[in-house]
Amino acid sequence: MALTTTQARELLNKLPKTDLGFFPTPLHKLEKLSEQLDIELYIKRDDFTGSNLFGGNKTRKLEYLIGKAKAEGCDHVFTYGAVQSNHAMQTIWAASKNGIKPVVYLAAIVPIDENDIKANLLLDRIFDAEIHIIDPLEGESFMDTENRSFKMGEEHIKRLEAEGHKCMNIPIGGADETGSLGYVDGITELFEQADALDVEFDYFYHATGSGGTMAGMMAGRNLLGRKTVIRSISAMEIGRSYAKHAASLSNGALELMGIPSGEPLVKAEDFEPDDNYYAPGYEMPNEATTKAIKLLAKTEGILVDPVYSGKAFSALLDHVKTGKIEKGSKVVFVHTGGATVFFAEKEILGEVF
Ligand SMILES: *Cc1c(COP(=O)(O)O)cnc(C)c1O
Repeated sequence: MALTTTQARELLNKLPKTDLGFFPTPLHKLEKLSEQLDIELYIKRDDFTGSNLFGGNKTRKLEYLIGKAKAEGCDHVFTYGAVQSNHAMQTIWAASKNGIKPVVYLAAIVPIDENDIKANLLLDRIFDAEIHIIDPLEGESFMDTENRSFKMGEEHIKRLEAEGHKCMNIPIGGADETGSLGYVDGITELFEQADALDVEFDYFYHATGSGGTMAGMMAGRNLLGRKTVIRSISAMEIGRSYAKHAASLSNGALELMGIPSGEPLVKAEDFEPDDNYYAPGYEMPNEATTKAIKLLAKTEGILVDPVYSGKAFSALLDHVKTGKIEKGSKVVFVHTGGATVFFAEKEILGEVF
């Protein structure tokens, strides 16, 4: 199957959606780094999605998620994440802006100081959410704490629904079929821009976490019958079923668009999740990432964050060095946001200066 970008847009336009940002986000060339690295390097500025300085990739997903919540008449949305979650922060303003009450359950990976609230958690309070901080119990892994927070949210929803409220439960990262539509839309936009420039890109690089961005991009790429290789760099440990789960999100998103679900358009083998760059762990800085952040800042004046986009950018640099990106390749780095981390706890930020 190969739809034109216009045909893909027509299908997307039929779905409930709310405007949250400023699109298209810019696609521009990084002239100095292109010369230094001997490739043609472009950047897609999804750090500029809006609707304030602190957008990012979740804003695209939320256009469809909050659009659906509105269409279904929800008065509350629930979501989850780490205390400094970009997704939770964007969900909060997106919901508030649409007259829906946001409730978040945040797992405290890094302990917080109540007298010194920073970064996303500070923004969460300004945007006025109901915030529940879940501290890990003794001996509990981060995953266990998160799973416990999901259960607490679900019970809370049951209580509200018993009182007659209508709630939408948005999974961590906004990574469900509806959220993934945001990146079918995002990659369609990227191909529209590439076509206007008359450039056929060899690679798209981006950071992956919950997998919704990756799922949406792959769905869009296959739907449009394009050949660009998508390299997804993991910001955390990924389980064995990661690609399989992403493929189910991709195909689910396509089904929402009305694409017949006979022969699935996306297969687990389509994905190339690369987990060689996140060590020592999620929200834990490493030296190659710190160097990558500084290089991009110094040469192009652009900031990538230490948790996601910086790790993905460090992978791109390493792939140039090892030849996994061949000389002369045309590459887009998809900047997914995360700027608030520069104002978060030192444990997360690392030694950037
Ligand atoms: C959430 C996030 C990602 C990962 O996107 P997923 O859709 O969760 O895989 C990448 N970069 C930043 C800055 C993010 O906040």
